Amino acid sequence: MRRDQVQSYLVGGVNSPVRAFRAVDEEPLVVARAEGPFVYDEEGRRYLDFIGGWGALILGHAHPAVVEAVENAASRGICFGLSHPGEEELAERIAAAFPWIDRVRLVNSGTEACMTAVRLARAVTGRTLCVKFEGCYHGHADGFLVKMGSGGATLGLPSSQGVPSEIAGTTVVLPYNDEGMVRRLFAEQGEEIAAVIVEPVAGNMGVVPPRPGFLETLREETRRWGALLIFDEVMTGFRVSRDGAAGRFGVWPDLLCLGKIIGGGLPIGAVAGPAEIMDLLSPAGPVYQAGTFAGGPVVCAAGNVTLRVCDEEDVWALLERLGRVLDRHLSSLEGVSYVRCGGMWSLFFLEGGAPLDFQEVQRQDSAAFARFHAVLRSRGILAPPSAYEAWFLNTAMDEALLEEAARTIREEVEEAR
Ligand code: PLP
Repeated sequence: MRRDQVQSYLVGGVNSPVRAFRAVDEEPLVVARAEGPFVYDEEGRRYLDFIGGWGALILGHAHPAVVEAVENAASRGICFGLSHPGEEELAERIAAAFPWIDRVRLVNSGTEACMTAVRLARAVTGRTLCVKFEGCYHGHADGFLVKMGSGGATLGLPSSQGVPSEIAGTTVVLPYNDEGMVRRLFAEQGEEIAAVIVEPVAGNMGVVPPRPGFLETLREETRRWGALLIFDEVMTGFRVSRDGAAGRFGVWPDLLCLGKIIGGGLPIGAVAGPAEIMDLLSPAGPVYQAGTFAGGPVVCAAGNVTLRVCDEEDVWALLERLGRVLDRHLSSLEGVSYVRCGGMWSLFFLEGGAPLDFQEVQRQDSAAFARFHAVLRSRGILAPPSAYEAWFLNTAMDEALLEEAARTIREEVEEAR
């Protein structure tokens, strides 16, 4: 069957909106295979891949140890729907990185992790409101699809249709990095707020790190008013450091959501936290959550070997070294703002320094980004196909490769402006 016939069965030609490459007005990239830092299209063209499975592939594509672990696990049974040792090992590895965690619940996606965390917060507090920040994405559960960052922003959709107003009304959206607004909201409605959920380094409006004091304010206000603080570290967990943004900035939430890296490239999510909150989840407690495929043997094998290699090779130091190559070439560029936090980074076509919130991000020149994206693609560099997405480093890249890529990026930024 021809590709266009195959794609006609897929809605919009894809299974997830950003893959349509609409924001950059290009054809989707159809991948034939991927290895190390590269993806290859069906014509055999090679691209240095900064999408990296949207951040999941910290070791690059088809890392031999991950492939071997997946093959071995699959040969012993693909799906048990029952307990097995690998899930306990993965939970232990996660808890080892975040010492305040007593319990982990593995789920199938970041969406499920965030949805479950908010449900837990509502159960703990007996309250309804969930505070999120404009430009942050927490997956596609109803309550999160209000000013939800990259996926929506790319399509010009601030919020989704199909979400009942009663549910949208349980989400309060504030500007990122605005401590004053957080304090004001708590002063007015603190007793109704169940949770504040935040990407502690935003990655879904491009990379926007927290301003000093922002996360601390969230911690202080939630504690003062008895709400739960949820860090959505689906993207930043095991990426901006071993102990995520929480460790990097020294602010500890009540609940942590993880995903991406902990599955080694297979579908996963996790909610984690102290026993007194987590033990409210079924079957230990009355908050229902379940999953046929949750914590399956193959994904756990991929996650375990990925986290083991990360520890053995101290990948965070390596990503930092790689990141410095980009810093040297890109931080002095004029007319764009280059922002990096550990193994994730962005280029905003924006004058006047790094953006602090979604309003500032929206001032970027998306048309210039689209021109830039197309030329990079023609030169064998695959940037995320939206000005609202983060770029990811992985350990299959090396300094020479990044030197060359950074030089190309530099040239093309100057052309595209
Ligand atoms: N939270 C964050 C910060 C994310 O970046 C994403 C996905 O990109 C999600 C949640 C949702 O994860 P998933 O796509 O696995 O449902």
